[in-house]
Amino acid sequence: MARYSGPVCRLCRREGQKLFLKGDRCYTGKCSVDRRTYAPGMHGQNRKKQSEYGLQLREKQKAKRIYGILETQFHNYFEKASQQKGITGENLLRLLEIRLDNVVYRAGFGRSRTEARQVVRHNHIEVNGKKVNIPSYQVKVGDVITIKEQSKGIQRFKDIFETASSRTAPQWMDVNFDQAQITVTALPARDQIDIPVEETLIVELYSK
Ligand code: SF4
Repeated sequence: MARYSGPVCRLCRREGQKLFLKGDRCYTGKCSVDRRTYAPGMHGQNRKKQSEYGLQLREKQKAKRIYGILETQFHNYFEKASQQKGITGENLLRLLEIRLDNVVYRAGFGRSRTEARQVVRHNHIEVNGKKVNIPSYQVKVGDVITIKEQSKGIQRFKDIFETASSRTAPQWMDVNFDQAQITVTALPARDQIDIPVEETLIVELYSK
């Protein structure tokens, strides 16, 4: 699946807030949002007030950028969310949140979602004992996700665990760093999905 490969700090500056796309750097004084508070581009410093449509569009772009997915796939998630029972906006965020790459990131097995995606794609992850290298794989309650035995000792994971293990994992999963293992104990409720996105605006946008 294609994904955006340009400069990611630009995406945060465009949204006017930190989207935490670069791992450790996002928590340092090198963060571009902290250093330049205006949007990128020639007219970045004189943006006009946004229309209702503009606000809805920005919210969708933000969600896509946080989870690192492109329009078609995002729209497919929306279609699926709207067919599920419950509140469409919450369903949408839940579908994004239970992607395997996001679960690996939330657990601290990747310092950014980009790194977590690489970890999955490079065959380091098993789900219920079987290799899964599809970042969009949707986890289920009871799934046990582990770093492959042969991969546990490599320097990359030592570095990841050193820096990312201090992060608090969400309540809907159990994380065991000693065994490099995540157990999904529930599906995430809205208040357990910590992203700065107003999902109702996305639903309004797609419902036009
Ligand atoms: Fe965004 Fe992180 Fe870059 Fe800051 S350092 S602009 S939070 S990606």
